[in-house]
Amino acid sequence: MRTFVRLCTVLAVLGVVFTVPATAQVNWGPVGQGYPRTAAELNGFSAHTRHLEMWDYLERLRTVSREMRLGTYGETRQGRSLPYAVFSRPLLSEPWEAAALGKPVLLFAANVHGGERTFREGLLVLMRDLATPGTEANTLLDQVTVVVAPQINPDGFEASERGQRGNSWGIDLNRDYVKLEHPSIQSYVQNLIGAWRPHLLIDGHNGGARPYNLNYQCTSHYDSAIALTDICDDEIFPAIDDKLATEGMKAWYYQRGDEQEWNTGGSQVRIGRNYAGMINSVGILFEAPSQELEIGARAGYLGYFAVMEWSARNAQHLMNTVAAARAETVALGAVPTGQIAVEMEYAAEDELVDYEIVRGGGFDAEPGEPVDTIQVTAARLMKKPVATKLRARPWAYLIPRDAEAAVELLLRHGITVERLTEPAQVVVQAYTVQDVTYERQYNHAAVARIQVGDVLTETRDFPAGTYVVPTAQSLGRLAAHMLEVETEDNVVYWNLMDAWVPRPGTGGQQGPAGQDQEPPVAPIFKVMTPTRLAAELVEGR
Ligand SMILES: [Zn+2]
Repeated sequence: MRTFVRLCTVLAVLGVVFTVPATAQVNWGPVGQGYPRTAAELNGFSAHTRHLEMWDYLERLRTVSREMRLGTYGETRQGRSLPYAVFSRPLLSEPWEAAALGKPVLLFAANVHGGERTFREGLLVLMRDLATPGTEANTLLDQVTVVVAPQINPDGFEASERGQRGNSWGIDLNRDYVKLEHPSIQSYVQNLIGAWRPHLLIDGHNGGARPYNLNYQCTSHYDSAIALTDICDDEIFPAIDDKLATEGMKAWYYQRGDEQEWNTGGSQVRIGRNYAGMINSVGILFEAPSQELEIGARAGYLGYFAVMEWSARNAQHLMNTVAAARAETVALGAVPTGQIAVEMEYAAEDELVDYEIVRGGGFDAEPGEPVDTIQVTAARLMKKPVATKLRARPWAYLIPRDAEAAVELLLRHGITVERLTEPAQVVVQAYTVQDVTYERQYNHAAVARIQVGDVLTETRDFPAGTYVVPTAQSLGRLAAHMLEVETEDNVVYWNLMDAWVPRPGTGGQQGPAGQDQEPPVAPIFKVMTPTRLAAELVEGR
């Protein structure tokens, strides 16, 4: 039986005067003897735990715990090491071992936006409880395996006193999940998400709206499996609400509302929680609205904890739901079924909702500033994905054999790619190019948008080496989104195929410019029915 010593007792013995801020009523529970505290705990949550302080804390935690692995999954642009920890019973370190255990794998992350640091502090405390035998969190390891990446963007965190949203180059890493141009996200997607294939992941941010202590939102995209979003709305989020209520806190959807409707966060696949849904994981966003740091950190702790508790209680149900989404994805491609939303928007959910909004006041408000909390009833919740432009799902996409950069990106995501071993004549759908427009997006001065005209069905010759991407694979939804040229996150849009995108009026690809009456077509072709092709796997990089 391990003895616990309360934080205040230790501090009293050390002669430290410990004053709880007037606004904070937080009881973090006991700390095991010899177990470390975060820098924020030690300074009474008057300052965040810095990057190197976090590493020191994690290494000390690893030293005393026998139920934790600590590793580095990558390095940032400025050379900072990106930590991850594995908590499991029995202790394991390889993803295949986790899969063989037959328990859900949960991936908890925070701080992808460098200045958004509140929930990271709660997550660091939760890591200690996971590592400490006999705690409630540790007991849940009988049912779940937990991988934690507590700081995805330390360069942004350390960039200034307040931290900054982007990385050291000012790039928003939570818009990099498809293009994978920055080492922090590339290594996170390849070495943690891709390797561990978590059933569920949580991404912790700061944002959202008072009077809530935590705002949440799941994947919100037309093309992801709806069961992965429903399981959040119907089961996981109510469990979070209940958990926070035990300490007088409240949770509700991200992002903000007025008297008529509550608006939610964006639908782009390049955002972490939507990317998670497109690869058939349950993808959850957590946001910490403005509040005192210790209370916010505690709200985050309770949020991550509630998801762990729910997952432990519903382990088989969670795994079945994810397995069904994966199987459904393969089936949709095997005999091409349904359509892909290349454009979508949000409409109101079928059920009206009640929530609270706040006018005035706030954590940074002047003393005496009036605060109005308004109870809104029977309002619209704007998060139902509605497709505004659909394209038929193909059996496979064909990509020119020299479009290496595009294929390289697909492989980094873990998408299955094959290559023709001999020339083939194939019946394909080809998108004619009516126009190509360019616009600035993040660090790209001119992303390419193809306006598609007529869709042709024709027989074309493809040389040996042409890449084939079948949609009957568990990443088929992501593959389709990245290879349909009209989405906002495809390989043409992100400039990986500029060399193959024809200009309107320059003639077709089959003959010299001006001599060919065929309209130019987009460089990715769609095979609409199962077709015999001699092809071999392209190995991942
Ligand atoms: Zn954020």
